[in-house]
Amino acid sequence: MIVAIDGPAGAGKSTVARAVAQALGFTYLDTGAMYRCVALARLRDPQANAAALEIALADSVTLNGEDVGEEIRSPAITELASEVAAEPEVRAAMALRQQAMLASGDWVAEGRDIGTVIAPQAELKIFLTADPTERARRRAEQTGRPLDEVLAEQQQRDRRDGERELSPLVAAADAVQLDTTALSADEAIAEIVELATQRSGGRSQ
Ligand code: C5P
Repeated sequence: MIVAIDGPAGAGKSTVARAVAQALGFTYLDTGAMYRCVALARLRDPQANAAALEIALADSVTLNGEDVGEEIRSPAITELASEVAAEPEVRAAMALRQQAMLASGDWVAEGRDIGTVIAPQAELKIFLTADPTERARRRAEQTGRPLDEVLAEQQQRDRRDGERELSPLVAAADAVQLDTTALSADEAIAEIVELATQRSGGRSQ
């Protein structure tokens, strides 16, 4: 079974997707981390070819064997990731890998285009949103950075992710929209776990 969780930055996707995967006993796939790895490789070598990179997502994130779990969370990589994610070759290379992984097993996959492009067959699609100011407030709290800076960068990233030609951030027609502005993470997690359990029809994991 595949649970797809898409939505803009700061809606709580990572926290929620990780916890839902754990609750269901499914494997968690953080597709944003893959684009972040491509961005880091490009920062180090502007000629880096996304298709040739070795990216592993297990307990930590490794790029060509090196643990980059922390480095890929920097503001510079956050910015660059949304730029490289608009390149057709990069998206094609990541899509191939993501689809190969999702071809078997039980997954909670998090990103921007999982329900629309990567796994349109997903049994459950969630589009997680929250008010933009609330999303920026959460990110500022997490990172200790000024709210106005975070909000300005977020607006730029939302625009880039939403307006790009290839796989723009849009909710799948059959996605369940979940607004987390006034929901705690635990409430969102419980709701998704409940929906996934219903959709799986009680079949064993
Ligand atoms: O989710 P996260 O913030 O880690 O993603 C980093 C960037 O990667 C996003 O801003 C987005 O541009 C891109 N991304 C994407 N498609 C995905 C996941 C992430 O374009 N499925």
